[in-house]
Amino acid sequence: MARVLVGVKRVIDYAVKVRVKPDKTGVVTQGVKHSMNPFDEIAVEEAVKLKEKKLAGEVIAVSVGPAQSQEVIRTALAMGADRGVHVEIPAAEYELLQPIHVSKILAKLALEEKADLVILGKQAIDDDANQTAQMTAAALDWPQGTFCNKIEKTDAGLTITREIDGGLETIKTKTPAVLSADLRLNTPRYATLPNIMKAKKKPLKKVTAKDLGVDTSPRIEIVSVEDPPVRQAGAAVADVDALVAKLKAGGHA
Ligand code: AMP
Repeated sequence: MARVLVGVKRVIDYAVKVRVKPDKTGVVTQGVKHSMNPFDEIAVEEAVKLKEKKLAGEVIAVSVGPAQSQEVIRTALAMGADRGVHVEIPAAEYELLQPIHVSKILAKLALEEKADLVILGKQAIDDDANQTAQMTAAALDWPQGTFCNKIEKTDAGLTITREIDGGLETIKTKTPAVLSADLRLNTPRYATLPNIMKAKKKPLKKVTAKDLGVDTSPRIEIVSVEDPPVRQAGAAVADVDALVAKLKAGGHA
């Protein structure tokens, strides 16, 4: 039965107001609440559902990042994943880790673990890259189904409904394949306290990028990170004539 590899990234919690560091080299992460990337919760839910429907035999949660990344692996295990793999990247190095590095790591693990499916989130809400699933598929030379809204197992492989601009697209693909989860694929379950306790006993393996033969040397340098411009306050006008006059004065005629 299929083995599913799921990518789970630890990101700043979606409800936190992100602050830029005073020296503009990045955003403040110290003392800030982190959680599993929301799209990855959807990916884990889908993998666990496949297991519950007996369409998958084993679900492996993978996180690439510093020591704290293990927290999101434990959450995935509490949601129903069977075991975890933590690819440890030192915190300083992690700041410059890019989707290409993560893709190469996931591709190596997919082969090593003999996975039939890799399910990732459509994008990580911290870097908004939306690249990892596509590049993992390329690295493996496997077909990809991105922005999944529905995943159905068929005798020949998978039928996937994808969210595209203004509609849905249905495609068929064989496995092995790489998929990415969109918002409406499912509603992820909460990790219950008994399951959080049980997850502590599930196996979690630690490896390094070097063990996998992946070079994670930085390819970029962060020049500067800035807050978005503050929106200017609006102004009230008395009537339409005043509005038109104001627009003309502002060069919008
Ligand atoms: P991105 O291409 O950075 O927007 O990320 C897309 C998806 O790739 C995420 O939703 C995760 O499923 C996966 N991913 C990205 N970075 C990591 C990471 N450091 N560890 C595990 N999975 C990751």
